[in-house]
Amino acid sequence: MRDLGNVDTIVIKVGTSSITGGGNKVNEAFMDSVAAQVKELRDDGKNVLIVTSGAIGVGLAAMNAKPKPKEVPIRQAAASVGQGILMQKWNESFEKQGIIISQILLTYDFYSDRENYLNLRNAIQTLLSYGVVPVINENDVICVKEIDAMFGDNDTLSAYVCSKMDADLLIILSDVDGLYDKNPKIYDDAKIVSTVDDVSKVLHMAGDPTTRVGTGGMKTKLKAAEICSESGSNMIIISSEVPDGITRAVKGEEIGTIFLAGVKERKKSRWIKAAHAKGTLIIDSGAAEKLSEGNVSLLAVGIKDVVGRFERGDVVNIECSGKVIAKGIPDYDSDDIFKIRGVRSDRIEAILGHKSYNDVIRSENLVIL
Ligand code: GLU
Repeated sequence: MRDLGNVDTIVIKVGTSSITGGGNKVNEAFMDSVAAQVKELRDDGKNVLIVTSGAIGVGLAAMNAKPKPKEVPIRQAAASVGQGILMQKWNESFEKQGIIISQILLTYDFYSDRENYLNLRNAIQTLLSYGVVPVINENDVICVKEIDAMFGDNDTLSAYVCSKMDADLLIILSDVDGLYDKNPKIYDDAKIVSTVDDVSKVLHMAGDPTTRVGTGGMKTKLKAAEICSESGSNMIIISSEVPDGITRAVKGEEIGTIFLAGVKERKKSRWIKAAHAKGTLIIDSGAAEKLSEGNVSLLAVGIKDVVGRFERGDVVNIECSGKVIAKGIPDYDSDDIFKIRGVRSDRIEAILGHKSYNDVIRSENLVIL
């Protein structure tokens, strides 16, 4: 048995193939079963949030459209059709349990804006305090980037929700049984890994997205596990076909794969990591080496170039030899950094006519990736 006795807030992510049972229609029995299990968890005093996929898949089926996987406008349109159907179905399932649900459509960008995020958090906390189960999806109708699979998969989204809401557990219900030690499509003797205590050691085991309607695959699930681990949450992948999989997993039964929580990173670091970078600072290898030692600031002298325009306080990427190695929040805007790039800190005032800080990014505002 796994010890999940302390779990208080749970995020449940439901994949497209689970919602549609791999076919064209919504699998109502499955949604009913999720709602019934959520009721059980709620009766047990847990807070539950749902992250649901399926808007695009359900919408495509309703419109009888069969676009190529990356045909974006039709997927946007399908999301617009499917999201309503999806919520109607969730509502029917939860109504049977006497549970009120709410719809929240998110964009990746909201993570870059701390104020938005705090407002959202307040809204979610209020919903939970009224016993409502928030049902979250990406706003695929307007977030083209998101549908284009660059950022947009609900595995990652659910992990960010887990991290932001300080949830203790993310359960991913999927069409896979968990993480296999080798490719089960090739090797008959492939086995499920029951426990992963360090996700960085299994990142190489990720395959590519498996289904056409959904966008996630093992790769995105492992990325989700990394985000959860850094936010001090456990993550479990189980097949949506396991009867009562959610409640059994929460009780500690060894089904699927559990990725154990790591040491909780500071909230600010997690936020910087998740935020959209507004620009890039290109630094030299000496500065990169210094940064990798940890707990140091980024000085102007190590900066070779500035890409993009950003304000003081925006999040930027820090890049060396074509690789983003860190992210941070500078204390100067892009114009000023451009003027002081490559110079020693004692010359900043002479160049800019003012000097807010010795460092371009203070150590507390820096995260090494
Ligand atoms: N948000 C998409 C949808 O509702 C699915 C994204 C995913 O499969 O990860 O259709």
